[in-house]
Amino acid sequence: MLYDQVAGQEEVKTSLIRSINNDQVSHCYIFEGPKGMGKYELAMVFAQSLFCENFDSDPCNRCPSCIKVNSGNHPDLHIINNSETTIKREEIDSLVESICIKPYESKKKVYIIKAADKMTPQASNTFLKTLEEPSGDAVVILLTTNENLLLPTVMSRCQTVKFRNVSKEKIKKYLKENYHTEDTLSDLAAEYSKGILNKAVNIVNGNDDILKQREEVIKLFDNIVNSDSELIYELESYFEENKDSIDTIIEIIMIWIRDCMFAQNNMDDLVLNKDFKQLAKAHGQLMESSNNLIELMQYTSNNIKSNVNYKLSIDNMLLKIQEVFK
Ligand SMILES: [Zn+2]
Repeated sequence: MLYDQVAGQEEVKTSLIRSINNDQVSHCYIFEGPKGMGKYELAMVFAQSLFCENFDSDPCNRCPSCIKVNSGNHPDLHIINNSETTIKREEIDSLVESICIKPYESKKKVYIIKAADKMTPQASNTFLKTLEEPSGDAVVILLTTNENLLLPTVMSRCQTVKFRNVSKEKIKKYLKENYHTEDTLSDLAAEYSKGILNKAVNIVNGNDDILKQREEVIKLFDNIVNSDSELIYELESYFEENKDSIDTIIEIIMIWIRDCMFAQNNMDDLVLNKDFKQLAKAHGQLMESSNNLIELMQYTSNNIKSNVNYKLSIDNMLLKIQEVFK
């Protein structure tokens, strides 16, 4: 793999590459960031860089070490992958034991611990020993969504590398280059993935339901706008059935309201849901003010988060949407 194959995270890449070139590689890193940000992929490229015999700002992908990493059998690369359950002391015991042994064929050994926050306190304490007396040729990379879930004593002995959300522009560029995604779809994926690259890729590949849900919600919104207030209670059932994803539903509606406003003002280029542009125009013409609606959605979202009666909040929201469209 190459650094470019992981999108975004330029600062992280630059600092990792620099640490190799300046011979300042740490003995333990914490890669911290939300799921789907490429933490594991970048840990793998970094490991490959440490093994590569011709490293020059990217691994060469040709030397025997690179070939072994890419085919998943480099003897000095150890991956602990236990994201489902806890990481027990026995597993860390064998890591501690092996860490003292010289590398088989490279100058370094690399340990990647996925979901490092799943280490039990006993496992963490055992692991701490390797940090207190680091072996010169081992590099440990702990992956976590939140470093505060690790023991403070572990945290203080590691170098934290923070993974940040990828910008919409970078996500679009990545999708275009790697998946030849057309503009409408890449716009949608960039918006709904909220800076998480793997989610954007899943949306494009149809492995994420968000676009299907978007269609449902836009059609539902059209029904709300065009129904009598008596019928509104029938529409309520959708919100009842999809209670778990209410945050997403509200987000879709807010983006839709924004689209209606753009369409109303002939700013068609800015409409996100381009496949529903005509409907956005129609709604835009009926809509009195988008500000009231955005406020209403925020108010509803806050109420639901602070446990105001769900059904009441939804009823209130539906009736008020209708008032704006009268
Ligand atoms: Zn190589």
